[in-house]
Amino acid sequence: VFKSGLFGSKRLSRNERKEADSPYFKSIQVEIEERPEGLVSPNSPVLSAFPVDENLGLFDTLDYALKKVITVSPDVLLPANPSILDGVDDLIQLSYLNEPSVLHNLCVRFSRNFVYTKAGPVLIALNPFKEVPLYGKDLISAYREKQMDSPHVYAIADAAFTGMMRDGINQSIIISGESGAGKTETAKIAMHYLAALGGESGMEYQILQTNSILEAFGNAKTSRNDNSSRFGKLIEIHFSSTQKICGAKIQTFLLEKSRVVQRASGERSYHIFYQLCAGAPPDIKDKLKIKEVMDYDYLKKGNCLRIDGVDDAKQFKMLMKALDTMEMAKEDQMKVFSILSAVLWLGNIKFSVIDSENHVEVLSNEGLTNAAKLLGCKIKDLKAVLSTRKIHAGSDHITQKLTLIQATDGRDALAKAMYASLFDWLVERINKSLKIGDNCRSGQSISILDIYGFESFHKNGFEQFCINYANERLQQHFNRHLFKLEQEEYVDDGIDWTRVEFVDNTDCLNLFEKKPLGLFSLLDEESTFPKATDLTFANKITEHLNSNPCFKAERGGTFGICHYAGEVSYDASGFLEKNRDPLHSEYINLLLSCQNQLAKLFASKMSSVSQKKSNHRTSFDGQKHTVGTEFKAQLFKLMQQLESTTPHFIRCIKPNSRHRAGLYDSELVSHQLRCCGVLEVVRICRAGYPTRFTHQQFAERYGLLFMGQTSSQEPLSISVAILQQFNIAPEMYQVGYTKIFFRAGQIAVLEESRNRVI
Ligand code: ADP
Ligand code: MG
Repeated sequence: VFKSGLFGSKRLSRNERKEADSPYFKSIQVEIEERPEGLVSPNSPVLSAFPVDENLGLFDTLDYALKKVITVSPDVLLPANPSILDGVDDLIQLSYLNEPSVLHNLCVRFSRNFVYTKAGPVLIALNPFKEVPLYGKDLISAYREKQMDSPHVYAIADAAFTGMMRDGINQSIIISGESGAGKTETAKIAMHYLAALGGESGMEYQILQTNSILEAFGNAKTSRNDNSSRFGKLIEIHFSSTQKICGAKIQTFLLEKSRVVQRASGERSYHIFYQLCAGAPPDIKDKLKIKEVMDYDYLKKGNCLRIDGVDDAKQFKMLMKALDTMEMAKEDQMKVFSILSAVLWLGNIKFSVIDSENHVEVLSNEGLTNAAKLLGCKIKDLKAVLSTRKIHAGSDHITQKLTLIQATDGRDALAKAMYASLFDWLVERINKSLKIGDNCRSGQSISILDIYGFESFHKNGFEQFCINYANERLQQHFNRHLFKLEQEEYVDDGIDWTRVEFVDNTDCLNLFEKKPLGLFSLLDEESTFPKATDLTFANKITEHLNSNPCFKAERGGTFGICHYAGEVSYDASGFLEKNRDPLHSEYINLLLSCQNQLAKLFASKMSSVSQKKSNHRTSFDGQKHTVGTEFKAQLFKLMQQLESTTPHFIRCIKPNSRHRAGLYDSELVSHQLRCCGVLEVVRICRAGYPTRFTHQQFAERYGLLFMGQTSSQEPLSISVAILQQFNIAPEMYQVGYTKIFFRAGQIAVLEESRNRVI
């Protein structure tokens, strides 16, 4: 049967189809990887071809984009899979593991609303951008009772649960993918499954409610996702010996706090601000001086106040409910809202320039009075801190006026620090509610990691630098485990196997981590020099790291890093400031003197950190307290934690960048598959024996092809006899204790013969 492929079946004319159905074209199915220039568009990767001139070795193939037949030479063609493999559950079952085949297979499944596919041990999840009938109680039970086993987040969560119970080893579900690919939704689906399995105490309901709280405070509308998480999250769900949920713990990573004060056009600040303004009841609004969103300068930036289809007021009611579920007292909720209101009013404080050197004074406006009132400090103290700085000169100190830029930066730093402290406080508060109790002695847990994926924009800054570093670390974890698992299966089944060394990214990790000559160390060193600039930093790393193969020197304050997912060019501007993340001690002292209890509490925490920063740049534990170093330390801890678990990997893929249902952009998908290392896994499988059958399965499927006699009816004897009959070269397969392992592409011959027979 002529396989017209997903793209072509509709477009074949009747004549073409008739021709295609003729037996002559049978089994000559190939795919085009690189098209001859000028003839074909790269957007339809799966084509069929048939020979036109066997002497010249030319093939005719349909170009679906151009809607015509073109003639190509075979070197641009790749083999396609037999039709029975169309839309297989697991890419490992494909006889030919080329990129077009993988893309085609995912696309076939996607068009049937099967958004999940396995790539060996990895689950690939395509974002459907619409409701799909794949979830709910009935399906959860079906997976639980093993009536269903097609690829699904449920199946992964179930495998984690079963693994934990069976082996007594903690498990982790590691979700990655670019922004908008569906990580957070996937994490929630996994949490729902585990909650349904281990629910009893009501704790599972609280755990699910944490999502609403963290999303309100840590998610925002960006250009890529209306509900984009701006922090990384690990949630550890604990189970008692009776397999019931008995507690949980959340860890968060690197909240993007700059969003509170500024952001790109078309994006919003954190949801909570809009929800508060839209949904707070009048008495709270009155008490906390809350106005409309358009009254706040911080919210007006980015020119986007609403999200289509989202009712902020309704969301606020849900948030209040979620806070109640966490047993947060109304009084505490008010404290939280008062900090939010204070942050918003800080943004409305304005300065007027009073001399030719751009020195400023604070204008007495509503912003100033309300911020002071909410914080519980004197207006004059707030004014002083915002516009002046005390400089120590011997035993005296002089008061120096700030310039407009200094004053604005200081005010913004205060707002950001307050918001980030509030976020951390909330996480701590949530963890208290989910406290791992005494009935949790068995200490078994499943962790779910939802962390920002690899990012490569036109312009990349310190945030991308940290995010991509985190992804390098996770990629290393991914590689090691997949190689290990795969190779262990061979060893366990007793086949000859020479270890394949994995393509590791140690060089790139070293580039970041080496002491003293790594990116983080050099950044810290430069951050301690008052005279240093982002440009001197860029020059310094170029000078020291130029010989590292993963480093690419560039000009003008930019530099490149060769990541596993591709080369990224970083712009060093802002690196020093963001790494130092300064909040002057005078702001901290002001907050310490405030009547607002949360503000006071935040300040006391900041003050201990800031003392470590200024008194002895390096604290007793040898850690420098810069953002980069702390992030690095946090990741080390995370990796250690993950290392003690059995990992389950989910790679989320965005099928198109328009957030549309039913649209599959091959180019975009293939880019992500490359970035997130799925093709890598597929490559690993190619080096090994990706196709495997138990002796029984093999004998059952292909027994009908066997012509001769065997001495025994044992599946193994039949299997070996079939392999010999088909002259399958000995290096193409191995017989293990329980399974037969095949190299890629070997099963196609058997399948074709089987198709002829049946
Ligand atoms: P990420 O966390 O990777 O940035 P999200 O999980 O926030 O992405 O998903 C972005 C959007 O995509 C969601 O708001 C939702 O509209 C849609 N989406 C993601 N996963 C699913 C799914 N399994 N079913 C339906 N819609 C989904
Ligand atoms: Mg997310």
